Amino acid sequence: MMKTLVLNAIHKIEMIDRPQPQIKNPDEVLIQIKSVGVCGSDVHYFTEGKIGSQVVEFPFVLGHECSGIIVAVGDSVKRVKVGDLVAIDPSIHCGTCDQCLSGRPHTCRNNRFLGCPGQIEGCLTEYIVMPEFTCFSLNEKFDPTMAALIEPLTIGTYSVEMAHTSFQDKTIGIFGVGPIGLSVLLVLKTQATRNILCFEPLDFRRKKAIQLGADFAFDPFTVNAFNATTETEPGLLDVVFECSGQQKAVDDATRVLKPGGKLVLVGIPPEAKYTFDMDLMRRKEISVQNIRRQNHCVEKAIQFIEHGLPIGQIVTHHFGPEDTQQAFDLVSNYQDGVIKAMIDFDQQ
Ligand SMILES: [Zn+2]
Ligand SMILES: [Zn+2]
Repeated sequence: MMKTLVLNAIHKIEMIDRPQPQIKNPDEVLIQIKSVGVCGSDVHYFTEGKIGSQVVEFPFVLGHECSGIIVAVGDSVKRVKVGDLVAIDPSIHCGTCDQCLSGRPHTCRNNRFLGCPGQIEGCLTEYIVMPEFTCFSLNEKFDPTMAALIEPLTIGTYSVEMAHTSFQDKTIGIFGVGPIGLSVLLVLKTQATRNILCFEPLDFRRKKAIQLGADFAFDPFTVNAFNATTETEPGLLDVVFECSGQQKAVDDATRVLKPGGKLVLVGIPPEAKYTFDMDLMRRKEISVQNIRRQNHCVEKAIQFIEHGLPIGQIVTHHFGPEDTQQAFDLVSNYQDGVIKAMIDFDQQ
């Protein structure tokens, strides 16, 4: 048997015993989970039981940001071996649909994503079975925490990539500097940007953004975002990354973008709806790029970390599996200066 954390109702996670999963196909591997990051999307399921049309049926296992050790492999597995520490891409695409065949496995029509309601259960459990193609073996520079942070870093990596621009000498805004906003920031810091302005209501997150290289960090509820921007960048911003999921941030973002600017929507709006000031959007000819998770960015994120990108700095808390409820309560209430909380399965 193995320990599994199940979401039994809104705000209620319980540790139960379940039988260990078994390898069924020759391309599968059995992974002992080491570390799991608590993600904003997990928290949406925890507090609201849904994200948009994806609704949880209880009981359900959450979690998709994970690392683990390979403990068994199917007959045809070549990519990884027993004993490897792996980062796990939580997305199992089919490989045969039009999306997969056109290089868009992240919007696969038959996608099964760890911890996504209606698809497959998540990684808040001691063992999972995954196809080998989701596993990326890591060298000794990585520990289980860093390995689990590769997944959120892939979102930042992909978001920056999807802005389709060189950031050399560009002025950039980031709305919301939780783990994803910070991962966008860290990726941007690998390029010679001119100014990065962050907008974030929580003071400890603003502080973290400055520590990690943001040029400015404002509270959008006490400072007028447009005025704060024109004071430092009279010509306004080239690109804004919206990482908060808040309508106010979208409104502010349209104001602080320059004509021809780009709005990259990364955050998940809880109501699944935004309104746009179409007068501003049209007159400034702002383009909007939506981000759906990530595409082909796992290796790039691994490379960034190997070259010293300090993603470990976003981790503020570690919990054992028995304290998962506490971890989710903390993250959902933004308590105790929390940015990224990790559940570690490796202390027993
Ligand atoms: Zn996530
Ligand atoms: Zn597919």
